[in-house]
Amino acid sequence: MSEEFRDFFNYSYSELTELLETEFGATKFRATQLFEWVYRKGVTDFDQMTNISRELRTRLAAAFVFPKARIHERRISSDGTRKYLFEVENGDLVESVMIKQVNRMTLCVSSQVGCAMGCRFCRTGTMGLKRSLSTSEILRQVNGVIEDAKNFGDSFQNIVFMGMGEPLHNFDGVTRAVRNLTDQHGYAMSPRKVTVSTVGLVPAIRKLAASDVSVSLAVSLNATTDEIRSQVMPVNDRFPIAELLDAVKGFPVGPRKKVTMEYVMLGELNDTEEDMRRLAKLMRGLPVKVNLIPYNDNAGLGFKTPAREWVFTWQRYLNSQGLQAFIRWSKGADIAAACGQLATESKRSSRLPVVDRVAA
Ligand code: SAH
Ligand code: SF4
Repeated sequence: MSEEFRDFFNYSYSELTELLETEFGATKFRATQLFEWVYRKGVTDFDQMTNISRELRTRLAAAFVFPKARIHERRISSDGTRKYLFEVENGDLVESVMIKQVNRMTLCVSSQVGCAMGCRFCRTGTMGLKRSLSTSEILRQVNGVIEDAKNFGDSFQNIVFMGMGEPLHNFDGVTRAVRNLTDQHGYAMSPRKVTVSTVGLVPAIRKLAASDVSVSLAVSLNATTDEIRSQVMPVNDRFPIAELLDAVKGFPVGPRKKVTMEYVMLGELNDTEEDMRRLAKLMRGLPVKVNLIPYNDNAGLGFKTPAREWVFTWQRYLNSQGLQAFIRWSKGADIAAACGQLATESKRSSRLPVVDRVAA
């Protein structure tokens, strides 16, 4: 047996099964038990895993570690949204947000430290990419939030990969995390409740569609012409709108399930009446629903937030065209819960101690 410690959270159920068989001479059932202790019961102390023999537990304890993400900072919004800044490997900081909705909570996690895609309206985009997160670092955010949520007596029902980074630019790390989130032996979440949001990396969307990973997809469209989309999203030069929509068409969605098209409304840039009509036309015949996201000016990148009434006008129009459209008003505005914001702020003020900042 190797002396080196293994990070439990990097293993899928089938990989763990194989490892236990080859290196520990243990049966598949042991992998099932281990996954249940760790992912169902949140127990990572082998002493408590009493349905496994003491001898095997001692050997496992010498082989596996269960790293935790340290809470570097936590902010609580007056609307109930909580934003976490977690420290992962190498002292890197990533954010996760527990978003409070009417009768549920959604956990938003990061997939990378920074982002290489450089969208002009996004704070994370201004950081550039430092690196992709490992599967374990992604799952540590989930574990960290589950543990802290006990202090609030709440829990999340959905997970979205909409924090820092482009999830499909970290295909392996993200799909492996999704596997453990949805594995019946793992967190056992329904794939309908786990959503990967992409800037529109067409080959990766097709690869995901062809893989055996089952997950919901959201696509950041954010414009109705290639000219404007390229202006705000450099990725559009590589994968223009028509190609992107073709990939969306080929994405397997179960019955009653749709791909979410995200549309960040940038005042007077991509939110004209013409855009509204063009968007409805572009979406025609696609298995999609639309999320309208008014630009969050916390990002401070020089775009305008559209007027509330205009956002409702868009929603009504899209509905009248037979399209499902929802509005995602920003949550946690008082704690800077916009994409990528907390991490960049903290960088500026160097290393902060672990503190809670509770917005009034
Ligand atoms: N990289 C992925 C997921 C992270 S961004 C993606 O781009 O889809 C998650 C969502 O936040 C995207 O739809 C993005 O367009 C949106 N977003 C980024 N900056 C924003 C801002 N300042 N205001 C509103 N939405 C923003
Ligand atoms: Fe990256 Fe998404 Fe931000 Fe674009 S919107 S820079 S892809 S995190």
